Amino acid sequence: MGVTRHGRTDRLDLLDPTLREWECTVLASDAEGIVLDRSAFYPGGGGQPPDHGVLLWNGVQTRIEGTRKGDDLYLLPAEGALLPPVGTQVTGAVEDERRTLLMRTHSGLHVLCGVVFRDFGALVTGGNMEPGEARMDFNLPEVPGDFKARLEELVNAEVAADRQVVTKVLGRDEALSLPDIIRTQSNLIPADEQEIRIVDIVGLDVQADGGTHVASTASVGQVQVLKVESKGKANRRVRVRLV
Ligand SMILES: [Zn+2]
Repeated sequence: MGVTRHGRTDRLDLLDPTLREWECTVLASDAEGIVLDRSAFYPGGGGQPPDHGVLLWNGVQTRIEGTRKGDDLYLLPAEGALLPPVGTQVTGAVEDERRTLLMRTHSGLHVLCGVVFRDFGALVTGGNMEPGEARMDFNLPEVPGDFKARLEELVNAEVAADRQVVTKVLGRDEALSLPDIIRTQSNLIPADEQEIRIVDIVGLDVQADGGTHVASTASVGQVQVLKVESKGKANRRVRVRLV
């Protein structure tokens, strides 16, 4: 499939995460969903929820509310929406507000993971991301008394440092030879994946990751650590919000 292709669809979202509008052709269109030759809709994955948006064609606006990943990448239209026939040239448009906020949130979580790993030695055990807010679970048996306040300060210092966020695709062996590349407690990379996409917050955090990110950490904006909860013996749940 390749890292920037899914079935018959070129993944424009991975080539240029700032792209919000593009021209494309409908390859399939039925109850299963709509397949495009080129799509910038982030299909969801790695914790980042899918994009919303529209397809514009012949004066019709088909609202897209989700995706389904099979052999092809299926865009799921809103209920009752008119579907563009196969072969139609359409303009795709991703809803900017949702996507941009998800990019900021996703990059912010990588900053959080990077800081928690560097300064507290803890790995990620789970998480959830919504536009502008998220929770992340860490394996951290001993929690320092001022953990919440220190964490917020450290994360925002890294945001303010405006570190570059660089995405690259490496061969499997090269990627897995990088130290600490797998930041989750369990290795989630499929055994047959030959190429691995890497997101590098330069100087802070390198992770295998398939999501969309801002270009540098200043774009994340201020991160508020809302809560640190205990979920089991060693598991700590950190809730954050972008402000
Ligand atoms: Zn990620």
